[in-house]
Formats: sequence, structure tokens, C-alpha cells
Amino acid sequence: MTQYDYDLFVIGAGSGGVRASRVAAAHGAKVAVAEEHRVGGTCVIRGCVPKKMLVYGAHFAEDVMDAARFGWHIKECKFDWPVLRDNVAADVSRIEGLYTQTLESNQVEIFHERATISGPNEVRLASGRMISASKILIATGAWPAIPPIEGCEHGITSNEVFGLDKIPERIVIAGGGYIANEFAGIFHEFGSKVTLVNRSDKILRQYDAQIRDRLLQISTMNGIEFLFHNEFTKIEKMEDGRLRIHMSSHDPIEADTLLFATGRAPHTKGLGLEKAGVEVDKNGAVVVDDVNRTTCPSIFAVGDVTNRVQLTPIAIREGQAFADTFFGNKPTKVDYSCIPSAVFSHPPLAGVGLTESEARNTLGSVKIFTSDFRPMKNVLAGRNERALYKLVVNGDTDVVVGIHMIGPDAPEILQAAAIAVKAKLKKSQFDEVVALHPSMAEELVLMK
Ligand code: FAD
Repeated sequence: MTQYDYDLFVIGAGSGGVRASRVAAAHGAKVAVAEEHRVGGTCVIRGCVPKKMLVYGAHFAEDVMDAARFGWHIKECKFDWPVLRDNVAADVSRIEGLYTQTLESNQVEIFHERATISGPNEVRLASGRMISASKILIATGAWPAIPPIEGCEHGITSNEVFGLDKIPERIVIAGGGYIANEFAGIFHEFGSKVTLVNRSDKILRQYDAQIRDRLLQISTMNGIEFLFHNEFTKIEKMEDGRLRIHMSSHDPIEADTLLFATGRAPHTKGLGLEKAGVEVDKNGAVVVDDVNRTTCPSIFAVGDVTNRVQLTPIAIREGQAFADTFFGNKPTKVDYSCIPSAVFSHPPLAGVGLTESEARNTLGSVKIFTSDFRPMKNVLAGRNERALYKLVVNGDTDVVVGIHMIGPDAPEILQAAAIAVKAKLKKSQFDEVVALHPSMAEELVLMK
């Protein structure tokens, strides 16, 4: 007989929390989870999933434009934002239902309210109910960080962007990361005039320089405006409801919408961590060891709240490893090497392993192979966008240590190519593979 109400109490039913709850329960633990917003978390409700659906929706703008070159004449073509918005929202609700069902069918009890920590083995629900648990898992994710400038409350974040009443004629997007660049592409395709404002002169810092330069070049060519070395000084709401956005080194811009995509901070504020001696770092991230244990031995944390790698597949792996280790008698640690990632910009880009500059800084000898080509579909469509694929190879061992690409379907292609990098395959083994013709991916085995 356990002295606690639950073996495991999870705070947050997002990617990491749902996986940990479900797997721990399947291992036989008595589990409960608290969720203050909607089951599924950021990825399902207001992140990866609805974003990718908008990316698909946005792509039709190009396809419809290119269709005539392929012999299709489309009459009265018009984009209806509420239709897309509402269809996406309905699908998100469907997936939320599936996640809830999965938890329930594994006998995980769900509390649809906020929970905070009140001791090493105790949580408090918003309703006032106190619950004890042998182990507590913090899986509260991250929250959009907004720079504290005058009038910042007039801007929106990715939390609100999926529910806009209408597509803005003019939108200013703050930030240079993947969310900023993805929404720049989406709104541009939907017909907005897009200006991206960034503090530095670099977008997508962690990606290969040549690849991100290509995105910048194509985006600029397509009409997205970039203002670098600029910070907001004040946001004014005008009488007609539009915004006047003041910047450090540019004339003010008037826009209908200002989207802050200026990073995501670990969601730890007001969580009661101090009541159990759970340490956080200078960014507010929960400090954990390699088995996800915090500085309080009965409390653990996974996902964005630990600020290790803010990606859904990582939160899921951490949740799985935690549940297997502590409830499945199967000690597991997450391997953070060779994590593939993508930016669903227009066109999309993706990468895995070392960038060229990382390889040059860490390896004795580096060989670079590139293929810079115009995809067949773009040629016939009269679209002047070139794809760029790049292999980074250890010059001493011939092992392919990085693959980076920008072009149509780059994320789809890179997921398969990432297996080769993870398996430490050599460039000579890439060369042995027969090309699949005609495809864009064949460039991966044809680089000389
Ligand atoms: P979350 O999924 O954020 O879940 C945390 C949950 O905890 C939330 O539901 C929250 O409501 C709840 N919660 C917080 N505090 C409490 C509390 N005190 N009590 C009860 N409940 C609480 N990642 C990718 O891999 N690919 C992508 O393409 C991608 N696109 C993204 C696009 C956008 C716009 C955003 C914002 C994120 C995107 N991400 C993407 C990141 C991805 O969504 C996160 O890495 C992932 O959701 C992290 O999972 P998590 O379990 O740590 O937290």
C-alpha cells in the first residue's frame, strides 16, 4: 500500500507530459496529470501542428500561381482565411480528443486545472485540492517571451496568431528564429506585406550560414522586407486600431499586426518550485541531471521547461526515458547527438549534424560538397528559386558529419538522410548508392 495518492503526478499535458503519463501508467503506475489549458500542449494546440497546416494552406498560393504553366486555368481564385482557420481549429480539437482518449484508456486521471508544487511530494490544484505523489514530473513547457517595451501589449504571439479575425494587410514580425521565419512565409503567401525586424543581422543562427543566406535571398526576392540591427522602442495604438511601431534605427512603421516571435522562456513562474528546493538557472529553466531529476530527489522535469532542446520529439523522448527509467525498470538516457530539425519557411530548410563552421572549428580537416540547382518543378513553373544541398565531411575519416539543405520538401528528404549521419556513414557510401531519378533527393548521392 502506497502512502501517496499517486505514484506519479504530472504537471502539464503537452508532448513530454502526455508521453510520460501514458507510459508510466502502462508500466503499472497510478498516474494523474494536470492541464491548465488544453490536452496536447503547445505542439498540438498552438505550435507544430496548426502551424504546419497553415504552411500547407500557404503553399497553395504558389501552386495556384504556377498552375497555368502546367496547363491548369483556375478561375475566380480567392483565399478565404476563416475557412482555413476554422478547419485547422477543428482538426486540432480532433487531435486533442485523441490525446485525451489515450490518457483515459491508460487509466491516467486528468485534472483540467492549474497545478503548483507545494512540497517535495505535494501539489495544489487551482480548486484548492491538495494531492500527494511519490514522484512529481514538471512538464509545463515554455511560454512566448516578449521584450518589455512601451506598448508591447498591443502585439500578439504565436499563442494568438492561429485565431486572427482576418489576415493583416501589413504585419511586422519581431525575431529571427524559426517561428519568425515560418510566419513571415505564411503571411507573405496569404498576401500580407511582411516586415521582419531583428536585433542582429542574422536569421536562424544555428543553421548553416550558406543555407540561411539562401533563405534570406529568396525571401527578399519574393518581397519580404528584413530590417536588421533594429530594436523596438515603442508601440503605439492609433485611433483606427492600427499600430505605429517605433524602432531604434528605422522610421516608424504602421502595421495592422505585430507578431512577437522573440523566443520562448521556460514556463516556471509561480509554479512553487522554491517550496521543494527545485533549482532553476538564470533563464528560469529547471535544472536536471541526465535522468531528468531536479535538485529535489522526488521531482523530475522534461521538455521545454528544462530548456535543453525545445523540440517536440525531444520532449517526447525525455518523457519516455523518464517513465521507462523510474516505472519500467529500464534505465534510459536521451541521446542528444544528431538531432535533425527544420524550418517550414517558403522554401523550407532542414539540417542535421555539424554545420560547415562548426566542423571547421572542431575537426582537423573538412571537405564540403554542395549542389546548387533549380528544381525541375521550379524550372517549368518559371520560378527562379534555386535549391542548395550541402554535405559536410570529415576530411580525415570520410564520415559525413552534417547535411544541410534548402528547397522543396527539404524536411521530408532530410529525415531519411539523417539516418545516414546518425549511422556515421562515409561519403564513399553515399557515392555507392544509385540515384533515384528524376528526384531532388538524388543530388545527395551525386555530389562530386
Ligand atoms: P508543452 O507542449 O508546451 O506542454 C506544456 C503544457 O503544460 C501546456 O499544455 C500548458 O498549458 C501546461 N501547463 C503549464 N503550466 C501548467 C500548470 N502549472 N498546471 C497545469 N498545466 C500547466 N517543435 C517541433 O519539434 N517542430 C515544430 O515544427 C515546432 N513548431 C512550433 C511552432 C510554434 C508556433 C511553437 C510555439 C512551438 C513549436 N515547436 C515545434 C516546439 C514544440 O511545440 C515544443 O518543443 C513542445 O511542445 C514541448 O513540449 P513540452 O511537453 O515540453 O511542453
